[in-house]
Amino acid sequence: MTSKLRAAALSVLLLPLLWGARAPESLADFRAEDMFGRSLDGKAPLHLVDWQGYLANPAIEFDLLIPEGIAFPAKVVVKAKEPRLYFTLPSSAGPDGPRKEIEIPEAGSFPVIMSIFPDRDGQDERYSLTAELTDRKGKQWELEIPIEVLDQDTVRDSSYPITVNFLQDQTKFYRDKKKREVVQQAASDWTAFFDGTGLSPVPAKAEQTFIWKKEGFTGGHTVRNDDPYTGYLLYAYGIQTDELRAGGEGSDQGGFQVIERGELPLRRSGGMQIDTRGNFNQLGWLVELEDSEWWKATNLGDVANDLYSIAHHEIGHALLFNRAYPLHVQAKEIGAMNTPALLAYLGKAPKIDTFDHLHGTIDPITRRGAYGYEYYGEMPHGRWLITPTDLLFAEAVGYTLLPHPATTPLRIVTTTLPSSRPGRPYRAQLQATGGVPIYRWALAENSAKLPPGVKLNADTGEITGKPRGRGEYELQIHVQDPRRNHPGAVGTVKLTIS
Ligand SMILES: [Zn+2]
Repeated sequence: MTSKLRAAALSVLLLPLLWGARAPESLADFRAEDMFGRSLDGKAPLHLVDWQGYLANPAIEFDLLIPEGIAFPAKVVVKAKEPRLYFTLPSSAGPDGPRKEIEIPEAGSFPVIMSIFPDRDGQDERYSLTAELTDRKGKQWELEIPIEVLDQDTVRDSSYPITVNFLQDQTKFYRDKKKREVVQQAASDWTAFFDGTGLSPVPAKAEQTFIWKKEGFTGGHTVRNDDPYTGYLLYAYGIQTDELRAGGEGSDQGGFQVIERGELPLRRSGGMQIDTRGNFNQLGWLVELEDSEWWKATNLGDVANDLYSIAHHEIGHALLFNRAYPLHVQAKEIGAMNTPALLAYLGKAPKIDTFDHLHGTIDPITRRGAYGYEYYGEMPHGRWLITPTDLLFAEAVGYTLLPHPATTPLRIVTTTLPSSRPGRPYRAQLQATGGVPIYRWALAENSAKLPPGVKLNADTGEITGKPRGRGEYELQIHVQDPRRNHPGAVGTVKLTIS
């Protein structure tokens, strides 16, 4: 054997050894991309949104790109350390953060869908996601994906007060201040989305509410409000029934909310009952769960249930999902709530079952089960939350919603940009609202061109530069949010350089 041949033979032997010794390492084409096709790396994080209010947050999708040249089938494990993050099922959530395994039969693009459980502060957050790829031979590659949470929580003055009255509780359940706080919080979390501007005050003794007896749903008595109030009066009290179940209802013995132009189809009082021993079991209640412990609130039959979740649900019945509300009854007669906003959002009218639940409806943006369908949906079990579907349903029942992107279709707000002169530095900001508020901007295909010297930043919606020449420009701007297969929205925006 010549030395040349020997070298060639050696390198053939050495190559696989070298490759083996170098794993794990980054595999250049093992990447992640967001829905806009941007590579997710240190420069471009994956954006999640924590919407205003205590509301289920949007599920955000991204793609893992698995290259050729590894041994298939392979597997990817995606995980993060933040317990408020979660992936679509099958996956786990818990104190050490979420974890999801994805089978990879061949090279290609594999979607991952995730979200973050809401908190109550307005701080943006940064996390890191790890995707660990293991091929059939056990070789591993790792990818770090930075996550940035755009937190839209701000403190908003409630315009729809809800007073929780515990004086009808004969069980001592609500002697515990923390339980009272949980119920008041769950109540305020609903009405925080409602516009109560102009609601007429209810004078003392003017409102009547039925109170179930302590033994449950077999009888009771009627009370009148001792004090005047505005908004909603909720009686929260403990019961002990054979079925070990909770309840909630609007008062059909009382009056309707009144504003200047007349009566609204909305009740102004109701009740909410909790079995003191537990929810369908006698295991008691989880009273003080942090947002980071949302995953403990599975509300399954064999565990102590989360007081917040059940209070949230029963207050939902008291405020809207109930036969005390004429528009709910009307919808129930035809089996579904048929408003243009719900049709546009869901693509169909949500069905209402005999329990006044939206059985079978999965909220499309958050991918969680809508009201009364909380055990379903595509996300892990955990604390029950309001979904955009629920809010659109509240609107359909007669509530006026405060402006919120979750209940607003995606659209461009800007109609006219500030005008300018040739040669002068220019900077303007396009604005959109609604949908999932992570926007990507472009000129629509049929649009006039931007003035020469000026450009549009696709990520920020900023228009900058030094315009040359004069003109009146009627631009067709396209905005897109990170929903797969969503067409986005187009708006006409005028810009004058003179
Ligand atoms: Zn229910």
